[in-house]
Amino acid sequence: MGQAMRYLVDTHNHLGFWSPDATQTDEELMEEAIRRRLHGVAISDHFDPDCEMDDGSSWMFDPKAYMKSFYGKRRLPSQRKAGDFPGFLIGIELGWIPDASQLLHEVIKNHPFDFAIISLHFLRDHDPYTHAEEIFTSELHRIYDEVIHTIADSAEEMSEAQIIGHFDFFSRYAPERDSKMCYEHAPEAFDRLFKVMVKNDQVLEINVGTVNSLMKRKGYSLDQAMPDPAILNRYRELGGRHFTICSDAHHVGQNGLHMRETVTYLESLGITEFVWFEEGELNTH
Ligand SMILES: [Zn+2]
Ligand SMILES: [Zn+2]
Repeated sequence: MGQAMRYLVDTHNHLGFWSPDATQTDEELMEEAIRRRLHGVAISDHFDPDCEMDDGSSWMFDPKAYMKSFYGKRRLPSQRKAGDFPGFLIGIELGWIPDASQLLHEVIKNHPFDFAIISLHFLRDHDPYTHAEEIFTSELHRIYDEVIHTIADSAEEMSEAQIIGHFDFFSRYAPERDSKMCYEHAPEAFDRLFKVMVKNDQVLEINVGTVNSLMKRKGYSLDQAMPDPAILNRYRELGGRHFTICSDAHHVGQNGLHMRETVTYLESLGITEFVWFEEGELNTH
């Protein structure tokens, strides 16, 4: 087992009740973490202001109630001894809505999350899962340029958010069959994003959920579905040092699905270490 697998903390996962699109419990997440021999696992439920499911349920949870439920179960991966259960961390996935940035700043400041992920789920007031036709209105490279520039805006404004979530989320839902996001789709936007991230010490998330989604929705092979090496290399060229990796699991069966193969792929590119955050501080092992 390589170094990367030995100290793997899966930093982005959702729970039923707290995220409207998830079903697993924290006990199930931990059982899977033990089975996978993870060093640690984190919960990071959705906090998307101003959004509702079609049935009216909210994409925001009550951070106080969240801490009340989970803070006592927290275990730091950095303190883990042989024989201990995997670590358990409390993150939050903030959905970027420019008009709600004040609320996003406050939720991080006022609650003891180990880290915050800033993610783009909406473009022009639409989400790509339910309203792809409102988003994918021109050539893919134009849309991806807009997406990556908007993620750069979010990274700039939410400079205290440690992790930039799933840069490739929109590629899951683009109508084109060949929708994998590549550096050449939006080189100038990627460069801007990575420069902002380096300035703010933000970490690039490798979201294995996108790998699985491209395989399931678009028929990519596992090899083809891996993140574009040009994106990851450019991030490093511009000074990006750290990566984090996650399942982004919402249901039990998604825990660790194709993560081992993704780690092996990343190791082949020289990416051998995945970080996590405890009380906002970066940890490796
Ligand atoms: Zn997300
Ligand atoms: Zn997520």
